This record gives sequence, structure tokens and C-alpha cells, in this order.
Amino acid sequence: MLKSAIMSKQKKVLVAGAGGFIGHHLIKYLKKKGYWIRGVDIKKPEYEDTWADEFLILDLREKVNTDMVTKETDHVYNLAANMGGVGFIGTVHAELMRDNILIDTNMLEASYRNGVKKFFYPSSALIYPSDKKESKKNTKLKEEDAYPAKPDSEYGWEKLFIERLCADYYTDYGFETRVARFHNIYGPLGTWQGGRERSWAAICRKIALASDGGEIEVWGDGEQARSYCYIDDCMEGIYKLMQSDIHEPINIGSDRSVSINELVDIISKIAKKTVKKRYDTSKPQGVRGRNSDNTKILKLLGWEPLIPLEEGLKQTYSWIKEQVEKAAQL
Ligand code: NAD
Repeated sequence: MLKSAIMSKQKKVLVAGAGGFIGHHLIKYLKKKGYWIRGVDIKKPEYEDTWADEFLILDLREKVNTDMVTKETDHVYNLAANMGGVGFIGTVHAELMRDNILIDTNMLEASYRNGVKKFFYPSSALIYPSDKKESKKNTKLKEEDAYPAKPDSEYGWEKLFIERLCADYYTDYGFETRVARFHNIYGPLGTWQGGRERSWAAICRKIALASDGGEIEVWGDGEQARSYCYIDDCMEGIYKLMQSDIHEPINIGSDRSVSINELVDIISKIAKKTVKKRYDTSKPQGVRGRNSDNTKILKLLGWEPLIPLEEGLKQTYSWIKEQVEKAAQL
């Protein structure tokens, strides 16, 4: 039996992927807003206790589980996914497609069938066509740039497919879906080692481990460019989107493009270390450039990221450094 707050007047929220980076932060954010929260994941959050009122360890690829957890729920945030950084999504194909299609289609259908009022789906900058991301200069991606479709990874195709399915549920059934396209969300409490970590986490870890004057490995030539959006800004963006009546996918990201080389320089400055870059061009590096065009979200929701990259990275580096030091003591 689910231990739900049936008698409560609080809005009930389900956060799937509650043990993950964004899911865990979202629970803390929504808890402060007064929601009753059920978190579900195949694992508990790794770095601190959950703030969820109820936390269930369940595999959301299984229909029986998605049917159960979406009952008596007002809003669903479906952040569960089998995913990771470029090193992971560049090498894992069938497993990633299969698992995420199962999670997403089951979550969407169960939420609709169980009378959920609003459903949030996190898509990605990786849905954008690869040819739009070839030059560093031409990287600001507007929502309408998604078509004609040509994502450069299975991850991107899966996200695009589910974006479309969310739109179809709204068109055919009137089911209230909201879709954000995240562009590299970063911050403390994210995966920082093990092969699924993203570029920002890997670089923070490498610099934390390096000695002053030492060397770190950089994947590719370091000139590939990305934009990074701090987790707190992302929370505000998700919340505003959920309150809105926007049914089309919308970018949530920063529009400040930095190369990986620049990112390394910013983090080494924060760490007060001089580090040499050793390039490994045999490693996956993704597309040349990718950046968020925030015109639409600024106009429709008045949202833009407020936390400067240097500030967000300061918080993030300090947390990752602490993890590296703790791990060294084990
Ligand atoms: P994450 O890997 O930290 O969290 C995903 C969580 O889903 C994990 O805790 C994992 O255990 C859980 N999960 C995986 N398989 C599951 C299953 N079968 N059943 C239940 N739970 C399962 O990732 P994140 O960074 O928090 O990302 C959350 C969502 O946002 C994902 O859909 C991701 O694709 C999307 N997204 C994230 C970013 C980013 O920059 N972090 C960018 C674009 C899109």
C-alpha cells in the first residue's frame, strides 16, 4: 500500500528519478513550497537524505510500478532516466533507448490514466540537429531549430520522440504536458565520478585531484563549446513552466557559451591552481558548439538564469573537492 497523504489538502507531487541530481534538488525546492512529495527511483540519493515525504525504490521500466506510483497524484515530474555524460551516451545505445522509452511511455500513460493534472518532461539540447552545432559561432539554438530533425545521439532521438508523445497526449487527450529542453544543468550533488559524470563534474574532479602546476586530461582539443545553467536557476525555470500554459518544448539553459578550455581556466582559477591541459583527441567530445537561445522563455515566462557561471562553479567545485577529499580518506 502506498503511504499517501490522502487526507491532506497539500498538492501531491510525484518526482520520478528522485535519487538523481535534478530530481533530488527538485524535491528540496518543491518541499520548501509546501508540496507533499513521493519520490521514486531505483536508488536513494547518494550524497544526502531525501526530503521526500515518501520514497519508493522501484523500477519505472515496469508498467505495474508506474501504474501504482502515479495514483492520487496532482503533478508528475518524470526525471527518471538511464543517462550520463558524453562518455556514457556516446557508447551505450540499445540499453539507453530501451530503458528510457519504457520509463517515459509508461510514466506518461499511467499519469494520464490515473488523472494526473500536469506532467513535466525534461528533454535536452541534444535533440537539436547535429549540423546546427558544427560551428562554435552558430550555436544559439532556438526551439524551432529542432526540425528537420537530426539529433546526433540515440539519447537525442529518444528525447525528441517523447517530446512528440507529450504533444500528442495534449492534442489527442487534452493531457497537460510541459516539456523543457535542458542545456547542461550543473551544481553540487551531481554525479562526479564513475563514468556517467558530465564535463563540468569531470573537470572539477580532475582539478581537485591535480597538484598546483600539475596536468589534467581534456577530452578532444578543448575548443568544443557548451553553456552551463546552475541548478537553482533550473528549478525556477521548471516551476515557472509548470505554472504556465505553454505546451510546446522550451529551452531552459544559459546563453553564455564557453569552450571546455575556458571552463578549465575558470575552475582552475576558483581552485587557485595552475594546471596544464593534456589533450586526448581519441576521447568522445560531442558536437563542436551548443548554446541555448533564451528569447522564447524570457518573453513568455520572464525567466533567465541569474547565477553567473563563476559563482555556480565556485559552489560546485567546493562540493566536488569535498567529495574527492572524503573519498581519499576511505
Ligand atoms: P541523473 O542520472 O542524476 O538522475 C536520473 C535518475 O533516474 C537516477 O537517479 C537513476 O537512478 C534514475 N533511474 C534510472 N533508471 C531508472 C528506472 N528504471 N526506474 C527508476 N529510476 C531510474 O540525471 P539528471 O541529471 O538528474 O537528469 C534528470 C533528467 O533530466 C533526465 O531525464 C535527463 O535526461 C534530463 N536532462 C538532464 C540534463 C542535465 O544537464 N543534467 C540535461 C538534459 C536533460
